[in-house]
Amino acid sequence: MTGEPERSNPLDLMESALARQGFRHTLPRRTILQVVASLGHPFTPSELTAEVAKADPGIGRASVFRVLQLLRTCGLVERLHAPDAEVYTLCLTAGHHHHVTCRVCGRTEVFSLEDDGAVARAVERVGYSMENHVLQAFGVCPACRGASGRGKDVPPL
Ligand SMILES: [Zn+2]
Ligand SMILES: [Zn+2]
Ligand SMILES: [Zn+2]
Repeated sequence: MTGEPERSNPLDLMESALARQGFRHTLPRRTILQVVASLGHPFTPSELTAEVAKADPGIGRASVFRVLQLLRTCGLVERLHAPDAEVYTLCLTAGHHHHVTCRVCGRTEVFSLEDDGAVARAVERVGYSMENHVLQAFGVCPACRGASGRGKDVPPL
């Protein structure tokens, strides 16, 4: 939808990552994983709970939160910085990377810095040694900018 390259079958990737870490398959968890994989955009815990309830009304909020926590522990779901919401995204990108979030539709894309070491060097200039950093960009995605790319329909900040 945003012209990003196909990442093959998120559900399988999630299942095998959990299996590698010794978690056995359970039916409610598979349903929750399916919902996370099919959402295709960042979500809040209550959005996820509502979508899971549509798929299987028998799965409660507690199960959804437990699986969400498990996915975060396994690094399959990341919390995004958002001004006033608790937002998570499925992320199958391994290694150090950053996210850019569309302020119109909330979609997110992964990017990396050509010179990521510049962050550490800037930190060292103020006398700190850097252990890690968090950097997230905000902007307008290609779909929301429109085919013309001129962003005519994008509401002002
Ligand atoms: Zn990520
Ligand atoms: Zn967008
Ligand atoms: Zn970085």
